Parts: sequence; structure tokens; C-alpha cells
Amino acid sequence: MTAVSGQRSVAAEPALAEPAADEDLQTLFGQSMAVFASLTGPAHLLETANPAFLAIVGEERVRNGVALAELMPELAGQGLIELLNQVYRTGESRTGRDVHVMLGTGPHGREASFDFTYEPRRDADGDVTGILVIGVETTQVKNAQRLMAGHRALLEQIARQAPLAEVLDGMARWIENLAPQEVLVSVLLADPDGGHLRHGAAPSLPDFYNQAIDGIATGEGVGSCGTAAHRRAPVVVTDIATDPFWNDFRDLAERAGVAACWSTPILARDGSLLGTFAMYHRTPRVPRDNDLALTRVFTGTAALAIERHHIEQAKAAAEARAKAAHEELTKAVRAEQKLRAEAEQRATAAADLTARMRAAAAAQAATPHPEHCQLGGAQGCTAPAEIKIADSWGDAAWGCPAHVEEAIINVRSVFIASEELGGLAAYLNR
Ligand SMILES: [Zn+2]
Repeated sequence: MTAVSGQRSVAAEPALAEPAADEDLQTLFGQSMAVFASLTGPAHLLETANPAFLAIVGEERVRNGVALAELMPELAGQGLIELLNQVYRTGESRTGRDVHVMLGTGPHGREASFDFTYEPRRDADGDVTGILVIGVETTQVKNAQRLMAGHRALLEQIARQAPLAEVLDGMARWIENLAPQEVLVSVLLADPDGGHLRHGAAPSLPDFYNQAIDGIATGEGVGSCGTAAHRRAPVVVTDIATDPFWNDFRDLAERAGVAACWSTPILARDGSLLGTFAMYHRTPRVPRDNDLALTRVFTGTAALAIERHHIEQAKAAAEARAKAAHEELTKAVRAEQKLRAEAEQRATAAADLTARMRAAAAAQAATPHPEHCQLGGAQGCTAPAEIKIADSWGDAAWGCPAHVEEAIINVRSVFIASEELGGLAAYLNR
């Protein structure tokens, strides 16, 4: 792992963006290498140690012949030195299972667990001269087992199309529980054009923080996530307090109590931006291989979930469009049916009127009436008067069939005045 200064924002090496699932899982499982050290004297001076032990101490701190408590001051108060003292004093070996140890300090610190054996070393007289420390780190094995189980559960959730918010929220909570140090996970979702990031899931960040971040633009220097989205590359900010990327968000981060933020873009298979996956920390922190592997595994999982969601959304939209088109068609068919029915009604009414006029003309043929149509208005009408019409106010006139039809259509309450058609009298006497 490249050392990252707390003062700089560093896009991690390009290899980070290329998921190599097998390698990541191997990193997460770890090699469970045995650690071995030979300590001498009551102060437990480091005499020899294998590379795995030296790696735990931190190679930059290793100096042979120096007391363990001095090499690893963080051990003070953790019970380990006390246990070594006891073994040295009593000459009885001790074992410990899943002993939790805080290794390193500050941003480089991490919690680990070991199965330990402390074996006294004796001289020819049988006196204790030192202690052999043999241990196997169990942190990664245990974490990896939990990780695999949780990862499988997430994939199952995605496969059965659980709502995206539920999947992402579950993933975030699960990583938070898995991590040995307190970590706050955030997933932001990119707009279709990749220009803005929307809230996705961040169950442990305060609401005011999530609300303030919702909708931020992607761009260089827009916090860790906006920059990672813009660069399409991971952005590791180990100390928000001093990082220029956080100039606009520093107060917000302080109020939320977060001090470091590592963000990785979530990319689709075609390389388009789906969102960002971020891990926040309460204190400045530098990511280790383990963190990066965890990030890669879950960035990939989040990509699956989001892509799946997009496909479902597109399907739903296509279905909605098809439904709308069908509804439009139904409406058009109904409108056409209505028009046709109205036309038929009008035709029936016209035929009825014609029949009534024909009957009236036949009935009135013998009745004395003016020679010419009286309904021609100012221009007059020379057609023969054939039909008598009247209205309910008692006015009556004779007209030609064409003017009679016009009058019946246009003048209120005009009717054909023919006894033969059966007037009100006929109705009253029915
Ligand atoms: Zn006329």
C-alpha cells in the first residue's frame, strides 16, 4: 500500500479501479501467516522475529534489541505486556484465543485479533531467559467469513429484485458492522447525465448532512465524492480538516463528526457513472489493502444493484408507455364509435322527419291552403305550399318541404300541424 500523507488528496493507483475479484477475496481472507518472535530478558527485548511479526510491528519501527513495549508503545494498557511479564515471572506458558490488539496509532492504527501462545525460553539451568511468541492472526479469516456471508446475502437480494434503497441501505449497515473501526458508509447515485449526485444510502450519517449533500454537482474539488465521480477514479482524503477538496464542506463535515472520507466511483460495465461509494471515518485515516479490497468488492456489488435497478426502471417506463399508447387507442376508438352513433341518430331523426313531412303533405293535400310556400322570407318562395306547420303560441304557416324542414330545425317548438299525425288531443284521449 502506498503511503498517503494526511495533507494530500490522492487518487489511488489505477489498479484500484480494475476489480480483480479473486485477488480481492484473497486480500480479504488474508494468508493467516503465523507470527513468531523471540524475546529476551525481563524487558522482552526483541531478539529475532519472522517477517510476518515485523510487518505487524511496522518495518519502520523494527529495531532488534529494543524492548517490545518501546517498539510498540500502543500495547501499553492492553494487557499483553502484563501477560508477558507473568509468563516470564512464573515460567508457565500461556495461550490466548482471539486476543484483540490495537496495532499502531492515529491514522495508521488498526484493530486485530490473534490466537497467541507465549512459551518461556529457559537456559541450561532451567531459568527463564525469555519468551517465544507464536501467534496466528485471526482478524482477516473471521472478517472474511462474515464478509462472504453478507456479500452472498446482498447478491441474493439483488437477484430477487429488492428495492434499490433497501439493498444499498442493507449493504451500508452491513459494512459498518463488519469494519473493526467505526466507519460510516455512504452511497450516492448519479443523475443520468452524471452531472449531479443524489442521496442513495447513508444510514449512519446525520440527516442534515445527507440533505446538504443530496444533489451536489460532480466536479474537481467537490469533496471526495464529487471529485471521485468527476475523475472516474478513487479519491482518498485522509484528513478533511486540511484537504482543499473539502473547503466548501469542512464545516458540514465537522458538524457531522467525520474526519476522513475515501470515495470510489461506481461505474457501469460500459464505464458510465452510476454513483459513488464512500467510507467516512471519525478520525483521520489512511486506507489499508483490506479497506481497498472491501471497497472494490462492494463498489462492484453496488454497481450490480444500481444497473439492475436501471434495467427495471427502463422496463417499467416502457410498460407505462405501452399502457399509455393503449389507453390513447381505446379513447380514439370510443370517440369514433360515439361519432358514428351520433351520425346514425341524426340520420334516423332526419329520416323520421322526412317521413312525418311526407305523411303531413299527403294528409294536407286536400285541405285548402295558399298556393305558394310562405316560409321563403323576404325573398319569397315560389315552391308549392304542401305542409302546414304551427307553434305552441298559435302561429301557423304553409311551406314547401325544404323550408318546413329548415323551420322545424331552426325555430323553437315548431311542429307539423297535421291532425293525421295525432296531436295533443289524440294523446289526451288515448
Ligand atoms: Zn318554400
